[in-house]
Amino acid sequence: MIGRTLSLKPIRSIKTKLIIRITIAFILLSMVLQTTVYLSFRKLSIENAQDKAKTVADLTRDAITSFMVLGVYDKLNVFLDRLKYTYGLKELKILRGTNVIRQFGNISEKGQVISALESEVLATGKPKSRLYEKVFAVEYSLVIPYKADSDQKVRCISCHQAREGELLGAISLVMDLSSQRQQGIHSIYYMVAISLIFSMGTLYLVYVFFKPYTELFQRLRHGFQKTQYGDFSESINVHLLDEAGDVANGFNLMSKNLSQTLSSISHRVSLLIGYEVSKSGNAIIDTANTIDNLVKIYYFKRTIEKDSSKLDVFLRFQHILTEMSITTFCIYEINNEKDVMSILSCGDPSQGPPNSGDVPGSHCYCSDVIFKNAQECRAKRAGGIVDSREFTFICLNFTPPMIMGDVHLCHYCIPLYVGGRVGYVIQLIYPAEVAERFHSVIPYVKSYLQEGESVIEAKTFMELLKEQSLVDQLTKLYNRRFLDEVGPKLSAQALRRKTTLGILMIDIDLFKQVNDNHGHDVGDVVVKTVAWLIKTSVRKSDIVVRYGGEEILVILVDVLSTRALDVAEKIRKEIEQRPIEHPSVVLKKTVSIGVSEFPTHAEDFWQCVKCADIALYKAKGDGRNRAYAFSKDMMEDTR
Ligand code: GH3
Ligand code: MG
Ligand code: MG
Repeated sequence: MIGRTLSLKPIRSIKTKLIIRITIAFILLSMVLQTTVYLSFRKLSIENAQDKAKTVADLTRDAITSFMVLGVYDKLNVFLDRLKYTYGLKELKILRGTNVIRQFGNISEKGQVISALESEVLATGKPKSRLYEKVFAVEYSLVIPYKADSDQKVRCISCHQAREGELLGAISLVMDLSSQRQQGIHSIYYMVAISLIFSMGTLYLVYVFFKPYTELFQRLRHGFQKTQYGDFSESINVHLLDEAGDVANGFNLMSKNLSQTLSSISHRVSLLIGYEVSKSGNAIIDTANTIDNLVKIYYFKRTIEKDSSKLDVFLRFQHILTEMSITTFCIYEINNEKDVMSILSCGDPSQGPPNSGDVPGSHCYCSDVIFKNAQECRAKRAGGIVDSREFTFICLNFTPPMIMGDVHLCHYCIPLYVGGRVGYVIQLIYPAEVAERFHSVIPYVKSYLQEGESVIEAKTFMELLKEQSLVDQLTKLYNRRFLDEVGPKLSAQALRRKTTLGILMIDIDLFKQVNDNHGHDVGDVVVKTVAWLIKTSVRKSDIVVRYGGEEILVILVDVLSTRALDVAEKIRKEIEQRPIEHPSVVLKKTVSIGVSEFPTHAEDFWQCVKCADIALYKAKGDGRNRAYAFSKDMMEDTR
């Protein structure tokens, strides 16, 4: 196939590697041995043949001489046939040299061919041998010359007309070594068979010996693979008492210690945070996550302690929820005095339903009834977690919008205690299909809340205390202390922005009479009602302060020049018209109002308040139930 590359997969098993290597070693060893044996056998066969040929040649030569001397040369062939048979020769020839042929004639058989080797010997007078190795036959040819000499008992030159050392002839013989080679080949077959059996046996022994070790490696590999995924359950039982046994025991001990340490950490963390942390099955990742979250929780607590308000703490908490992929949530604040609740903040309003509840611009998934009656909130009423996973319609006031379509929304509401009562409800909303993942982070959410609860409680109390110390308890208007703090800041801001503050000093006319004629309770209701009427007559950004007994000061922020008097007049008319109801009596009261503008009438804020007071004094003096703007000539009157 085009583009296809062959790649050999690396062998990853020790057992296979061992078997392959030992097999290769045995094959090589057996090849070397067989070659050595074959070569030795061949060498021995040739040497043996050479010896035999030499003996035969010597015997033949001596026999020729003897037969010649004895005069029975014609019987020589019988002897030679016998010799051939005895020594298993293929061929035995006597070749006469030129001199002998000339003297005694040629005894060669008719058609007898002189081989090249023989010719060479006859020509050179030197012995020659040659080995002919063919496919099915091996032959060894030896040609030995015999020469005339005179130092032996039988002196050749006495019969031969030849000089000392002259070539008389040669003996040529051919030995068939095929059977020796066959024997050699058979021996090699035996050797191959024996070495095969031996190799198999050795391989088996090696296999049996190494089996526990290779198994140990396999189990170690498996064990380490499991530990990578935080699973320390693998225990290796081997009956090896050597180093391998130590390795297995070491692995078991390591797994046991790690497992114990990690579960101990997890257990202690669970005790610390009060919840069982989520388990992914990977002890290492679980522990790392747990520690990571613990550290985050620790930093969270340390950070929120220094936050300036409970809102800051909740904002930080919202951030953490978002990090945990919980993007839809609502934080409700409960007013236990009035038994009402309101939305403190909401997450992911872009996905939420249209406005509901009593906080403009906020979004929630609950029915409006909970805002008017906090007891309608199940988490507040029960004082415990409300989990829609336990029962789908557990809270009937959880009313997710229809626009969510097929997405089935679940809720998880956690109450947060302040001073022994539910002060906040954290409502987490999630689609049913992510329930698993959502619930896996819930322990951490609870941990953050648990750690933050005391800080939120302290901050709530502090803010309440501060609020109370700056708010008048009868009218719920800011008190004089608040004005001391805010007045100079507002005036500085107005100077910076080059805007005007309108200051209205309002005093109830002939208020003493109310106390005198109807009692202080009615007097209190009059003060409260007048305060409420003033508060609702001005903008939310304006500041209404109970300045003294029945005197109320209003700071109109960013008012246009002379508009302050219009507002004062509006307030005056509103109070004049509105009957004040008490179970025992219905009254109508009027107010006198002095108006000044900062910085128009004075460069100092308090000086400006004084101006408003002067205008009020003038209004009282002119018959009450009127609103006067300050003018410089009024200063003359007060002198
Ligand atoms: P005018 O201001 O029109 O000159 O007459 P007045 O009757 O209002 O005069 P004055 O300011 O002297 O009287 C104020 C009285 O209001 C004195 C005090 O007993 C009473 N007072 C002040 N604060 C309260 C309060 O919170 N409740 C009640 N019931 N009375 C208060
Ligand atoms: Mg008064
Ligand atoms: Mg007064």
